[in-house]
Amino acid sequence: MNPKRRPILAGNWKMNMTATQARELASKLIPLVSAVKDRDIVLAPPFTALSAVADAIKGTNVSLAAQNLHWEDKGAFTGEISAEMLLDLGCRYVIIGHSERRQYFGETDESVNKKVKQALKKGLLPILCVGETLAEREAGMLKDIIGRQVTVGLKDISVDDMKKVVIAYEPVWAIGTGKTATPEQANEVHALIRQKVKALYSTEIAEGLRIQYGGSVTPENVSTLMAMPDIDGALVGGASLKPESFAALVNFK
Ligand code: PEP
Repeated sequence: MNPKRRPILAGNWKMNMTATQARELASKLIPLVSAVKDRDIVLAPPFTALSAVADAIKGTNVSLAAQNLHWEDKGAFTGEISAEMLLDLGCRYVIIGHSERRQYFGETDESVNKKVKQALKKGLLPILCVGETLAEREAGMLKDIIGRQVTVGLKDISVDDMKKVVIAYEPVWAIGTGKTATPEQANEVHALIRQKVKALYSTEIAEGLRIQYGGSVTPENVSTLMAMPDIDGALVGGASLKPESFAALVNFK
């Protein structure tokens, strides 16, 4: 954590929670995090629960995120959701290029880039996810993979727009597996991402960029991760599904 960057803690509920359950979860969470002033708190429920969660968090210090969007404004894209639809429901952020989307739904760096551009064009703040698989790490490809995901994912993003981007580093081997990257391993990749952004933009942009870590973050390990100089937040799956554990995580010391 660097005092110049505001921490951002986001819960990715993935394909969990009906609208009814989501409203209840958000309502239970609010009082547990209402005193938090110095960090951003974000909830990313499934599309069908966005409206219910938007109601529950109205007027609070919690923001709403979607887990995906389509890169076109509107039209014949059955089953897809546009930026305008998300904005209308009160979304401020959108997660883009989560490894599950890349792995199971064929998302590529190119489609991820189109989505990042669309989010920015429409006024949503993108959380761009990057991360290597275990095979890639073991093959010594970490630097190349992360470099490509960052470079292509951010292609044609202006300096001004870049100030609105959050990057989430999520090593695929650590997502939902209970295996966390060590704080040192995570920080090393965060520093690499910052270095890449510095080369693509400037020191100022790189120093201002918030980079979240994601991959089996829990209330137990969040503080040691957040103590690292290049880790500015967490993108949390499993541990965000219970109000007590996500609140404990948000309230890390
Ligand atoms: C995630 O979904 O982005 C994630 C990191 O999941 P988990 O915290 O369950 O590993």
